[in-house]
Amino acid sequence: MAKGATTATSEPLFSFGVIADIQYADLEDGYDFQKIRRRYYKHSLCHLQNAVEDWNGTQVQFVLQLGDIIDGFNAQHKMSESALERVMEEFKKLRVPVHHIWGNHEFYNFNRDYLAQSVLNTKNLQDHTLLSNSNRDQSSIGDTPAENYYAYQFCPMSKFRFILLDAYDLSILGRDTSTKKYQDSLHLLQEKNKNENLNSPIDLVERQFVQFNGGFSQDQLDWLDEVLTYADSNQERVVIVGHLPIHPNSSNDICLAWNYKDALTVIHSHKSVVCFLAGHLHRGGYCLDSHGVHHLTLEGIIETPPESQAFGSIYVYNDRMVLKGRGRVPDREMYYRDNCTLF
Ligand code: ZN
Repeated sequence: MAKGATTATSEPLFSFGVIADIQYADLEDGYDFQKIRRRYYKHSLCHLQNAVEDWNGTQVQFVLQLGDIIDGFNAQHKMSESALERVMEEFKKLRVPVHHIWGNHEFYNFNRDYLAQSVLNTKNLQDHTLLSNSNRDQSSIGDTPAENYYAYQFCPMSKFRFILLDAYDLSILGRDTSTKKYQDSLHLLQEKNKNENLNSPIDLVERQFVQFNGGFSQDQLDWLDEVLTYADSNQERVVIVGHLPIHPNSSNDICLAWNYKDALTVIHSHKSVVCFLAGHLHRGGYCLDSHGVHHLTLEGIIETPPESQAFGSIYVYNDRMVLKGRGRVPDREMYYRDNCTLF
């Protein structure tokens, strides 16, 4: 039996690690914006070290880092690059590849051009060959233009596909103010949020329209739709990964992606999606939606006390995924919607 697969009746097909909101900074502890939840900026590095050690002792095939790898405070102290180097030193000790997602804190520290040239751009791990059986032009489906948004896909094994989405494709963070996307995003945000401080959700009808969130462009949603159409026809299981949660029951009403409903509409029009993984909401969340898609929002490292932990390994079977969580991350069994086996 696989380590951690509590009710497994067979060996997992493969497994992978998950970790969210490390938000490392070489600073004393602080608190969240409501001054309630303690943030352990320095200790987050120890949590990462423990996670890497744990994964190196297992068979995980890869790790998903769900965004906010270093804290925005680094920018104010001109420590962005040194903080990033420090966390990457730990990730380098991993014996398997890491896929990095970009969250709001990436953009507090760096702009998109910088990130695209940095170690946090892991698009080189994308799968170029996976659509070779398609009669469509594979480059138009599988690849996304680097200058447009940061999203890609890969297949750890036949019939299982992972899609990384860019939840800050529409955002005023990280984009040059002269770009059309910045201007369009600013107009959208100001239309929905009349507060002087655009990070404030006070009096908003749609409370997710704050500056520290973002959304998906129509281009990206069309690309997602195309990939999922292929996945459906190929009878695949798909896991989608993004920094921001997209289901209200796996989040509070503030931390959602701006146009989460558009993303849900695309996902629900396909049968292949089994799970959506997110970070951003440090207390974590989970729901099984009305279409049988599991929405798992991982507990954040940054608000995890030194005596606890917050990461997990997910063991993939042909009828379910089993999350073996550590510390604040609870164990969970996530069965696929039709509960039938593929093989
Ligand atoms: Zn975040």
